[in-house]
Amino acid sequence: MGINIGVCALQGDVSEHVAAFKAALSASGQEGEVFSFRRAVDISRCDAIVLPGGESTTISRLLRKNDMYDPLRAFRGGIFATCAGLVLIGREVDDPRVEPLGIMDIAVGRNAFGRQRDSCERAVTITGDNRPFRGYFIRAPVILSVGPDAMPLCYADHSVVGAVQGPHMVLSFHPELGGDLRLHLLFLERLGAYTPAL
Ligand code: GLN
Repeated sequence: MGINIGVCALQGDVSEHVAAFKAALSASGQEGEVFSFRRAVDISRCDAIVLPGGESTTISRLLRKNDMYDPLRAFRGGIFATCAGLVLIGREVDDPRVEPLGIMDIAVGRNAFGRQRDSCERAVTITGDNRPFRGYFIRAPVILSVGPDAMPLCYADHSVVGAVQGPHMVLSFHPELGGDLRLHLLFLERLGAYTPAL
């Protein structure tokens, strides 16, 4: 039996995540399915969930409308959250229009790297990996603080732009763009360690 990875497709860059996780599964020699989903009932089919980038205020509204807050909070698999997904997953966010899921012990600041026109590539350092990662930052959030339950994973210009907590991984930038699968592979490796039955 393989790993079921569901990309939450309420809004945002869904197909890029599906393609990147399909490539990561095949690169790691693992069986699995990667699919997009829009309904709360689909959450129980997933071993891992991707919360993609997009517009966190919109995704927050749609999560509420589709009654997905409670099932996501109760989800016991791993969550891979990027950009807007990272804005949603923390315990605190600096915008009252976004209801945080409170799944990860981080506080998040939205749009910390400027507006759409300031979108750029930055060198990201990954803890435990000495090759820099090319991060695509698009109106990206920053991790303002990391509580004791979470651990910083990535840095850019002295800011924390990635963190892990149990099987979850969050990134301010877009690792699904650019073809470097190191962070996807690390997520799958950590997921396997947290759920040995996979
Ligand atoms: N700035 C957006 C937000 O806070 C995130 C941008 C992105 O996901 N690329 O929702």
